[in-house]
Amino acid sequence: MGLVVQKYGGSSVADAEGIKRVAKRIVEAKKNGNQVVVVVSAMGDTTDELIDLAEQVSPMPAGREFDMLLTAGERISMALLAMAIKNLGHEAQSFTGSQAGVITDSVHNKARIIDVTPGRIRTALDEGNIAIVAGFQGVSQDKKDITTLGRGGSDTTAVALAAALDAEVCEIYTDVDGVFTADPRVVKKAKKIEWISFEDMLELAASGSKVLLHRCVEYARRYNIPIHVRSSFSGLQGTWVSSEPIGDKKVEQAIISGVAHDTSEAKITVVGVPDKPGEAAAIFRTIADAEINIDMVVQNVSAASTGLTDISFTLPKTEGRKAIDALEKNRSGIGFDSLRYDDQIGKISLVGAGMKTNPGVTAAFFEALSNAGVNIELISTSEIRISVVTRADDVPEAVRAVHTAFGLDSDSDEAVVYGGTGR
Ligand code: ASP
Ligand code: MG
Repeated sequence: MGLVVQKYGGSSVADAEGIKRVAKRIVEAKKNGNQVVVVVSAMGDTTDELIDLAEQVSPMPAGREFDMLLTAGERISMALLAMAIKNLGHEAQSFTGSQAGVITDSVHNKARIIDVTPGRIRTALDEGNIAIVAGFQGVSQDKKDITTLGRGGSDTTAVALAAALDAEVCEIYTDVDGVFTADPRVVKKAKKIEWISFEDMLELAASGSKVLLHRCVEYARRYNIPIHVRSSFSGLQGTWVSSEPIGDKKVEQAIISGVAHDTSEAKITVVGVPDKPGEAAAIFRTIADAEINIDMVVQNVSAASTGLTDISFTLPKTEGRKAIDALEKNRSGIGFDSLRYDDQIGKISLVGAGMKTNPGVTAAFFEALSNAGVNIELISTSEIRISVVTRADDVPEAVRAVHTAFGLDSDSDEAVVYGGTGR
């Protein structure tokens, strides 16, 4: 008998109908002879609504209370799901993250899992129950306070439980049929990927693909837990994410896995920086001390006449204000003329381990962008990724052009988005 962990996202359990539909699926898995652990997210946009409410009563809610509030969303869905399963004649018990043994550090709103002790889940399974666990939450090891893992953290809960319970697979049910070669909301002809390596999936997640969170994939790779991403709205096979292809199918590693895009970043240009040692260090020390993560960096060639240069970098839009303030405060220490802030940028990334050994990928990428009339502002590369920054308005067109140029278009419109408000 196998043990499977299934995770259902908010759009899969958005209303009573959704909960009943998901309950049927879970019962099927159980009837097929599996022990089943289910991780569930809050219904629909519940988490966003709770955040809105908190902001109405306090502009800066305390982390502890904020987490206490948000975890209520998953409590609602887990209890309703257990009821729906019982109504189908099967035994189910729901558990909060804390009851399920999800132990975290005490960083509210973005806690990290440090241990999982699922004793109660094991017992529930051994007694023949389906165990339902509230996603995205845990309890802090030192203070015993309730914590949350950050937005979208239910996927991480599912993988962490799968690792702790030594599950055969972690199935992530969502509102699309799997991982696609591009965001199906932007590229109609995006193709479903049958299998993708942890490495390529990590790069896609880091480059803006939202199907799976980076942290969740990182966790799965560390414990070697295969993930099967699939839709709860269809019976189709989804995408397998694992270290090696799974099953009898010999799936070849594609040269290019996909095209990701991200419009959540902004660009800061530090203008008129003296071209001498220590300048970049001073700028990025300032940013680091403000606890801001940056993404790309470029330094222009300095103008010979002035000996001054410009340094640009990208960072999450949400950190823009903080970064500008920190740099302004250190203006005399660093020594620069002015700052430019631009939040109308987008990033397009081509990902695939095959580019390591296939010459011409970079050239073809730039040709595709040029043919589409897209101007490139910044470039960065890793062994298995090329990224460019463009105007935000150019992103959809650029993604489609690159997707077509690399032969990723499917013959049919196979990408269906079943639900979710994309909020
Ligand atoms: N309900 C939480 C959120 O919306 C966690 C999750 O969905 O994974 O971010
Ligand atoms: Mg959600």
